[in-house]
Amino acid sequence: MYRVGIGYDIHRLTKGRDLIIGGVKITNEKGLLGHSDADVLVHAVIDAILGAAGLDDIGTIFPDTDPKYKNADSTKLLEQVIKEIQNLGYKIENIDSNIIAQTPKMMPYIPKMKVVLAKVIGILPNQISIKAKTKEKLDAVGEGLAIEANAVVLLGSAE
Ligand code: ZN
Repeated sequence: MYRVGIGYDIHRLTKGRDLIIGGVKITNEKGLLGHSDADVLVHAVIDAILGAAGLDDIGTIFPDTDPKYKNADSTKLLEQVIKEIQNLGYKIENIDSNIIAQTPKMMPYIPKMKVVLAKVIGILPNQISIKAKTKEKLDAVGEGLAIEANAVVLLGSAE
């Protein structure tokens, strides 16, 4: 049995924060604003996994009103979600995703993101696709005010 899930996230860019995407620190003068580390890609992936498993969304499971998640490392939250779906008898078959950012360039960081996320999830880097897109300078993302991410996840039964 297979189950598919979709995830989306967006965070504003702001000065005085580290930019962390896909569990990787990216050199940039601005970072993403959020209660946790605001890792937009990991949040989209988590929501896709939760959606595929028919569970509540990331905001319900890890509320931003909970001080426990202040500046939380989002890969730790992902690790927790993986354990949860394993308990339900699922495993990740593959992940496809987009990072939509006008700047900085994501491409140089993508191989490392795949390795980091594959390790956290317990799959191979070739089971994860991460594509870098821009917004062609259109809208808030295109103006460099925010970064977005989409993810699709396929779950299979772990047996
Ligand atoms: Zn988020």
